[in-house]
Amino acid sequence: MNHSEIKKLPDEKKAINWVGALFLTLSPIAAILFTAMHLYLDGFIWEIWAVAILFYGMTASGITGGYHRYFAHRAYECRPWLKWYWALTGAAAFQNSVFVWARDHRMHHRFVDSDLDPYSIKKGFWWAHFGWMLFKETEHALTVAEPYGRDLKRDSVVKFQHDHYVALAIGLGLLLPTIIGGVFGSAFGGLAVIGFARIVALHHATFFINSACHWWGKQTYTDVNSARDSLIMAVATFGEGYHNFHHIFASDYRNGIRWYHWDPTKWIIQIFRMVGGAYSLRTTPQAEIIKAQLQMDAKRLKERIHPQWQMQVQTQLDSLKVRVEAAYTRFEQVREEYKRYKTISAEKMEEIREQLRQAKAEFREALRQWREYQTYVLRTVPVTS
Ligand SMILES: [Zn+2]
Ligand SMILES: [Zn+2]
Repeated sequence: MNHSEIKKLPDEKKAINWVGALFLTLSPIAAILFTAMHLYLDGFIWEIWAVAILFYGMTASGITGGYHRYFAHRAYECRPWLKWYWALTGAAAFQNSVFVWARDHRMHHRFVDSDLDPYSIKKGFWWAHFGWMLFKETEHALTVAEPYGRDLKRDSVVKFQHDHYVALAIGLGLLLPTIIGGVFGSAFGGLAVIGFARIVALHHATFFINSACHWWGKQTYTDVNSARDSLIMAVATFGEGYHNFHHIFASDYRNGIRWYHWDPTKWIIQIFRMVGGAYSLRTTPQAEIIKAQLQMDAKRLKERIHPQWQMQVQTQLDSLKVRVEAAYTRFEQVREEYKRYKTISAEKMEEIREQLRQAKAEFREALRQWREYQTYVLRTVPVTS
């Protein structure tokens, strides 16, 4: 890590955030101790574990689909009932109010990797994961952050949730699990498993987005910031692991853009669209995504080869790139035509379908040649690493 890159803030001593620090350090102890005691006293009550998994899914998506993709990035629009649902499930995750969370997260995107990034990875893995929450934000940081929370402040749901955050978090995150546990035979088991164990597991899964997702993985679309794409992290973080994509196209409601990319948050938002809660889901035009990826491929390749070959390789890359982009444009045009003519004669449809097949094949071929050329260069040209 290059520490000289950190944009310096005025030297202000950071005060310890005692409430946050105590909760973050004591809750894992409570989770382990209480769960062990519950298992010893009551044995395995499967209903409690099933509800804990359900609660985990609901509160995890409250953070990823609600706090993150809706409140922080406005990647789609919500009906009021869905907004309330996100605000309440998010509160039960014990990750502070929507207002603070989303404002800090916008700062993270805007000032990523600098001193104004609240969880800058340049300050180390553990700072980004955990350390930053042990301290209060300085006056200066709060002043800079103020405009990033202005619209949130005007939102009545956000305001209510912020004003009653502690009561909502304790009520929904600890008390409700205790009551549910009681229904299934152990109130203490509910508190231990559905409450503390679920909160702590979700805490660290979320914290991984700030630490591991800026540490391990591939920089598929850009290397101007430290965010990385990783399938393992996507599995661990409810789909937020395609973090390199997310940092460059933050207003896209998806993080995993392919249908097979592991992104449960995206699927949950799609389900809410089907039932009418979410609408105007924003996506990045595929052509822009391809452009960014090709640019990054070319940059990475050029960095690896000896400087005297770079010009020649660049020329060839440029022409291959033009072919890929043109093939994709053609494919999109035919696809649009296909959608438009869907209702006309079967004969015309068959003709357009054939054109679509050809356009798809040409795009795949252009992409294959693009990749093959990179392998060829790395095999035949002197590389620097
Ligand atoms: Zn990030
Ligand atoms: Zn984000």
